[in-house]
Amino acid sequence: MCNKEGDTIKLRPYQRELINDIKHSMIAGHRSIVSVLGCGGGKSVIQAEIARSATGKHNRVLFLVHRKELCEQITDTFTSQDVDMELCSVSMVQTVSRRLDSIPVPKIIMTDEAHHSTAKTYKKIYEAFPDALRLGFTATPCRLNKGGLGEVYDDLITSVSTKWLIDNNYLSPYKYYSVKLADTSGLHIKAGDYKADEVAELMQNKEIYGETVKQWERLAKNKKTIAYCASVEAAEETAEQFQQAGYKAASLSGSTSKELRSQIMQDFRDSKLTILTNCELFGEGLDVPDCECTVLLRPTQSLTLYIQQSMRSMRYMPGKTAIIIDHVGNCYQHGLPDDDREWTLEPKKKQENMVKIRECPMCYAVYPPTQQRCPYCGYKAVKEIQRKEKEVVEIDLVEMKRQDDIRNTRLSDAILETWSQVVEFQKLHKYKFAWCIRYAALHDIPIPQKYNNMRRIIGV
Ligand SMILES: [Zn+2]
Repeated sequence: MCNKEGDTIKLRPYQRELINDIKHSMIAGHRSIVSVLGCGGGKSVIQAEIARSATGKHNRVLFLVHRKELCEQITDTFTSQDVDMELCSVSMVQTVSRRLDSIPVPKIIMTDEAHHSTAKTYKKIYEAFPDALRLGFTATPCRLNKGGLGEVYDDLITSVSTKWLIDNNYLSPYKYYSVKLADTSGLHIKAGDYKADEVAELMQNKEIYGETVKQWERLAKNKKTIAYCASVEAAEETAEQFQQAGYKAASLSGSTSKELRSQIMQDFRDSKLTILTNCELFGEGLDVPDCECTVLLRPTQSLTLYIQQSMRSMRYMPGKTAIIIDHVGNCYQHGLPDDDREWTLEPKKKQENMVKIRECPMCYAVYPPTQQRCPYCGYKAVKEIQRKEKEVVEIDLVEMKRQDDIRNTRLSDAILETWSQVVEFQKLHKYKFAWCIRYAALHDIPIPQKYNNMRRIIGV
């Protein structure tokens, strides 16, 4: 992932630029700066360079993380990049806040995942060392309860966007499918996100488990996959459904023992496992570059969580296109992973309509509304659907039943099962004949051999 040259790290140009921007902000008099860099932008490399340079000048650095696993990971990265660990302590925020009297006074406090910075424990630490320079890092500088980070930071620096990282081969491109299996509209919100027990109950549903496997077989069969579930039970049940369907799957949660967890992770890296389901894990810091698919089974109001989870399969690998299968409609809440987002330190104003996406009724792809045709299957949205765009065309697979009279069926409700039904439907709606070929190929409906040539031309 990082370009090593000799023993010291070689920064990418945009990473070097971000460090310069931080320096300029300091020169301008800011003492508390939060930097924004998309997932996969190489945040830890930048942090290591800053810590290396600071400790090289005999400055003491306190680096705050909020998860134990990240402590170990960051210590490893820093050590390998010549940070003087005598002068740099990488610590859990909870631990530091309890030992404020006994730790050496830092010159710089660096905060990882800085969207947590306004929490009490962090503020207690900042207040204990008022003279320390504060540097925060995050991909999503916003708080779950919509407040801004301005309470803690006085400058915000942005770097390259997710789109830029994809275009420049630092992240893999992706295909996003929304196959909604659960209705989240009845859920209540507590502390900024859906109530955990209600979500768990909603997602614990036999039909959802079954449909999850089916959709995965249709869209991402045999691709190395991480599924994010709403509860430990749901993670276990989902893994079991995959196993019963003949795939190698395992589930992990916070209560899995450390030994078993590292064994399962190793198996996943070694491709002895194809599907890894989990609850409350791997938002951050999981590095499995050949993971190609993410399945979202946990509805969330948190943009941070959404970005971290949906992008987990987008680590760059030549030729890879990540597949994201969203079963809970998170993209309607948050948009697509690489949407341009404007960040400020101010509290977020209530947004009127977050939905800036179009959904393909043919293949369930989700894509920007500026495109007239589905970029995955070529289907052109018909007028009827375009008009309804604002209210979002939802396709509830659980409710989908074979309709006998396809003439009266709206396109998004139709399930066509044979070639002749597909052709009949095409004539009825006056689509081009190529539509039949695309539709049938996408849905595994046998296509008569005489159209083989046409299939080659269309490329399906
Ligand atoms: Zn499509």
